[in-house]
Amino acid sequence: MTNKELADIMYPNVTKTIDDYEKMYPERNLDPKAVVTRFAPSPTGFVHMGSLLTAFIASKVPKDTNGVFYLRIEDTDQKRSVENGIEGIIKDLKAFDIEITEGAISETEEIGSYGPYIQSKRIEIYHTFAKWLVENDYAYPCFCQPEELEAIREHQEKRKERIGYYGRHAHCRYLSNEERAERIKNGETYVLRLKSTGDFEKKVSINDLVRGRIDYPENDIDHILIKSDGIPVYHFAHVVDDHLMRTTHILRGEEWLPSTPLHIELFNKFGFTVPKYCHLGVVVKIDEDGSRRKLSKRKDPEAKVSFYAEKGIPSEAVKLYLMTIANSNFEGWYDQNPDKTLDDFTFDFKKMSASGSLFDIEKMYNISKNYISRLKATEVYKGLCKWSQEYDPDFYKLITKYQELTTNVLNIEREQKKPRKDF
Ligand code: GLU
Repeated sequence: MTNKELADIMYPNVTKTIDDYEKMYPERNLDPKAVVTRFAPSPTGFVHMGSLLTAFIASKVPKDTNGVFYLRIEDTDQKRSVENGIEGIIKDLKAFDIEITEGAISETEEIGSYGPYIQSKRIEIYHTFAKWLVENDYAYPCFCQPEELEAIREHQEKRKERIGYYGRHAHCRYLSNEERAERIKNGETYVLRLKSTGDFEKKVSINDLVRGRIDYPENDIDHILIKSDGIPVYHFAHVVDDHLMRTTHILRGEEWLPSTPLHIELFNKFGFTVPKYCHLGVVVKIDEDGSRRKLSKRKDPEAKVSFYAEKGIPSEAVKLYLMTIANSNFEGWYDQNPDKTLDDFTFDFKKMSASGSLFDIEKMYNISKNYISRLKATEVYKGLCKWSQEYDPDFYKLITKYQELTTNVLNIEREQKKPRKDF
């Protein structure tokens, strides 16, 4: 039985080809230097500080280069999805002026011609690409059940071999197409696995925009690409989506760095250009005992971006702080150009720290104080109204009753060379 025949049995409903999709989603008509990025969260309902930093930079670079920034929702992992999880994310982004001009804009709507931008609506696309892999002998169905996988693992552990489904350990790699077809017809469940041609003894180089060149062993694991329910895993969906959506730069957390050899293998198998990668370090904080740890959603209130609105920190100040931790030359630039805005500053990947950003709330408060001290009293008054209306209604009533008095108070020792900062 040919691979093509097997592929037809596995994906009987696929009617399009990869070429059809290439035509539907052509190269974007942009300047050669324009950068296309995306923010690709799971619909968890809110944005964590680390993700805000990613989204902020991902939206800034296209602004600097006349490129495109879009929002893609990665909802293939049910465990990470919550109801109305998209709207919460959009609201958090909007609070920091990250407007979505392409991609998902609500639970049901989207803008742009490279969609659908919600992965659960792209299953047909993934299956078309999966079918192509099977036809070309780059992927196969695997029927191994948890017990068999466990047995392989035990065998590897006993012999002190590298753990994983690869090479001769990848039992289903060696089934005949006839047997595969037979088992599928008998209703056995299966996943789709990559038939890796990588060699663990050889190196693959990742030219990361922040970290420089990193050499990793090539991937040789026959990773799962599509789960038994037909839903793709991140690795496969990322390659298909970022290719079809014509992403030029992938900004994502450093936890994805070790899987990049697999992603590169997939891009190469399809014959697609590998986008530029930029793996951002985690946002860490220093604990009271002096140890560094990842900013945690559970332990640190400042990890949730809504915390800043509640505290009354202007979103502009948060962004100034984010740029301070993102680009080492920003602080100096801003000191020299206090009247300029973030839009006047050009972000530079080379000025990012690979070791992660240290999050220092005191420093953010300072930036916020400086920022507020430079505003006009009327602007502070406006901000104060907006904040108190939501978070301190009694105060709101008071300051709106005594608008002039409040503005005058806010004007004490303002608009001078060294304005007061202790409001
Ligand atoms: N959905 C992935 C995450 O939330 C996105 C990683 C990426 O940007 O490619 O970590």
